[in-house]
Amino acid sequence: MKNVYFFGVGKAEGAAEQKNTLGGKGANLAEMTNLGIPVPPGFTLTTNLCMDYLDHGVYPEGLDNEVQSAVKKIEAIMGQKFGDPDNPLLVSIRSGARQSMPGMMETVLNVGLTKATIPGLIKKTNNPRFVYDAYRRLITMYSDVVMEKSEGIKPVSGEAIREQLEEIMDHMKNDRGVSVDIDLTADDLKQLCEEFKEKVRDTLGSEFPDDPGTQLWGGISAVFKSWAGKRAVSYRRIENIPEDWGTAVNVQTMVFGNMGDNSATGVAFTRNPATGENVFYGEWLINAQGEDVVAGIRTPYPLNSNTKTKDTDQLPALDELMPDVYDQLDAIRTKLENHYRDMQDIEFTIQDGKLWMLQTRVGKRNGAAAIRIACEMQSTDLITVEEAVARVTPDQLDEIMHSMVDPASETGAALLAKGLPAGPGGAIGQIVFTADAAEEWAKNGHDVILVRNETSPEDVHGMHAAKAILTAKGGVTSHAALVARGWGKCCIVGCSALQINISDKKMTVDDKILKEGDWLTLNGSAGKVYTGQLDLIEPDLSTNEHYSKLMEMADQIRKLGIRANAERPEDAMQARDFGAKGIGLCRTEHMFFDPERILAVREMIIAESAERRREVIMKLLPFQRDDFKGILSAMSPHPVTIRLLDPPLHEFITLTDDQKDELATELNISIEKLENRIRDLEELNPMLGHRGCRLGIAYPEITEMQSRAIFEATAELTAADVSVAPEVMIPLVGMYKEYEHQVKIVRRIADEVISETGTSFSYLVGTMIELPRACLTADEIAKHAEFFSFGTNDLTQTTFGFSRDDIGSFLPQYIEGGILDRDPFQSLDQTGVGQLIEMGVKKGRSVRNDLKIGICGEHGGDPDSIEFFNRIGLDYVSCSPFRVPIARLAAAHAQLKTQRQ
Ligand code: ADP
Ligand code: MG
Ligand code: MG
Repeated sequence: MKNVYFFGVGKAEGAAEQKNTLGGKGANLAEMTNLGIPVPPGFTLTTNLCMDYLDHGVYPEGLDNEVQSAVKKIEAIMGQKFGDPDNPLLVSIRSGARQSMPGMMETVLNVGLTKATIPGLIKKTNNPRFVYDAYRRLITMYSDVVMEKSEGIKPVSGEAIREQLEEIMDHMKNDRGVSVDIDLTADDLKQLCEEFKEKVRDTLGSEFPDDPGTQLWGGISAVFKSWAGKRAVSYRRIENIPEDWGTAVNVQTMVFGNMGDNSATGVAFTRNPATGENVFYGEWLINAQGEDVVAGIRTPYPLNSNTKTKDTDQLPALDELMPDVYDQLDAIRTKLENHYRDMQDIEFTIQDGKLWMLQTRVGKRNGAAAIRIACEMQSTDLITVEEAVARVTPDQLDEIMHSMVDPASETGAALLAKGLPAGPGGAIGQIVFTADAAEEWAKNGHDVILVRNETSPEDVHGMHAAKAILTAKGGVTSHAALVARGWGKCCIVGCSALQINISDKKMTVDDKILKEGDWLTLNGSAGKVYTGQLDLIEPDLSTNEHYSKLMEMADQIRKLGIRANAERPEDAMQARDFGAKGIGLCRTEHMFFDPERILAVREMIIAESAERRREVIMKLLPFQRDDFKGILSAMSPHPVTIRLLDPPLHEFITLTDDQKDELATELNISIEKLENRIRDLEELNPMLGHRGCRLGIAYPEITEMQSRAIFEATAELTAADVSVAPEVMIPLVGMYKEYEHQVKIVRRIADEVISETGTSFSYLVGTMIELPRACLTADEIAKHAEFFSFGTNDLTQTTFGFSRDDIGSFLPQYIEGGILDRDPFQSLDQTGVGQLIEMGVKKGRSVRNDLKIGICGEHGGDPDSIEFFNRIGLDYVSCSPFRVPIARLAAAHAQLKTQRQ
């Protein structure tokens, strides 16, 4: 098995397709090399080797030779030798998994610097300051990554070695009266390195290794082991990354951005990752190395005028300071985008005026950017319609449907502080200062804003739980910004006015003091922080051309119809605006709670004789007729599925004493009699009790009244030339005889209305399939029913025997214990409930091949469930109006997936 893949001067053994073996970073370094882009030569150790090493604790025989011959190749290209006292080669050791895990894995720079090689490098570069700067970085990274973390050493003082070394450096900066590291002299840095090594020895109990080979292998092994580190493991759990992927290790010739004022390092995106705008966007620093830009040590410079903000306007831009290098970089930007056909996130270093590329990968972006980039790349024919649709995830679409701070409430509000806009949108929440607190508070139902100096991978669980993230330090490519953008979270970074005191759980901003639990409002699009709670508003999608285009493209692809669950005309209109082509579930019971009608509803329930019941129920007819006219015409000409009364009657007569008095007077009966009647209706298991079609069977006059209201509305609208398509749905049928009983009434009333009004119209009658028995006998039911709509909420409830209202009491243990992967009421249980649905579809269509089948219920808006429904050939899904766009996109994704298979 090949363990080592070489890349250098225009030729690489690997390629972009080999991410599984070479990791994302290694595969793309190989690809860039093959594209003729300047990449420092190096080699990649495979992910298989990583898993092999983690399993066995030793390397396979022969690996040493493979590595040595790869090092020789680099030496030949560079004309330098690893460990050579006169002309030493230095390398970086970089991790890189299949999928990027920002900041999770480790990197060590400047490997190969020793007492023996330092003088040679000084002589060669004539730049002792640079050499000692590189050396102190090596000692810091190596002691942190290799000596402490990978060995699992816990420093006695409880403070990590990296922090201890940084303290020493801060101390020296104070001592010398300088504020940034670039102002330390060569002698300062030389002394610092000695102090560092001493500290390492004292704290970790062993010497910083002075042998290049030891450094190299120490670094490689540490990076491999970092895959099994605590941070990486918990990140993988959140992101669902398999444990057995492993990380690759890249050993690469060092290029130096810290060689002086003609050297620099930077990171950039080929398009703006926050808006998607097609402009080059990035940050850089002069005389800096590696992670200085993202670490927030110095304020990074803007790459160009596109990247400038009011706050960074004064700082030098790369296109102004080094125009030639900028042009080269810009050309590489175009080359990479055209080659990868997607927005890239790149790292570069300029060593003494020469540009080197160190990384490219598909750039993380927020929802708005994802949609804009997909649409714009499609319209320039860089990608196809299918690719454009596939590039936007349902979550990204969901993001642009989220709230923002209402500008009106913002104008008057007193600004607390300003930072860099790192994740757009608005958020309101209570302040917490630690990731653990964020998780804890969120668990207790609070909306929280996680406030930190800066975030680190240790904080991801709290960042996940928070509504928004606010940091005092860091730039728009800092850890907080990257992670927040990936999740589409509101985020503000580099808010330097915050003075955070974690131990006292408070922060000061100028003279204001804010404590844990105080409210903040964040405008992540503008980087503005306010105290208190401002108003949030929903974004207006009607003016978002990219959103409309995405939806159009998704509609071209999808086969599944999308309807909405709605009972009020305004909700139906909303659903229409979002693209719903019909109502899949109009629940009639909600209409009963209207204050004008509830009394009649209660009278009907209390009534003891059928005649009396019929009399009062007819009072509801005009109301219901208006309801149905409203919703049918709002959806015209699309179908509206109206479900006959479904809930246990008892729900309507849970009364206060006053309500009882009023009702008793109205009905002219005694309180005692009323209470008896209420007691009669009480049930031990209302969910399994007198509800659904059982109501209509016991009280046929309810079915009669509702059918009459539906058909009179239909007749009136039809006569007025409004084209409508009512579908009457009978709920909770388990036996075809129940259905037969009800459908007879519905059809009789339809005939009556047609003959009374002289208007003919068409309609469908069908049933909701929500009991296992209905699935098992779907063929019998389909003989009589014209459509099925799976009521997956109740079907999940009755299949599992889980009460959907009480699942909260044990679900957390089920999820934690791995008994359930997720809440089956949110995402359909495809193995169990799904099997029943499939059976229902098959049996139903076996007797009626044009049987129209849809689903209504929470699962109609869940992308994974939608994929399942598409696969088993349903005609439509119905979901809440705000999920309609998500369902359209998810249905297109489902279809693309089917086509691929
Ligand atoms: P991460 O995956 O955390 O970004 P990287 O392996 O990309 O880690 O390295 C961290 C930083 O060090 C980056 O800024 C990268 O550009 C820089 N770096 C890595 N290798 C080299 C090298 N050979 N020469 C110069 N800089 C390097
Ligand atoms: Mg990187
Ligand atoms: Mg139901």
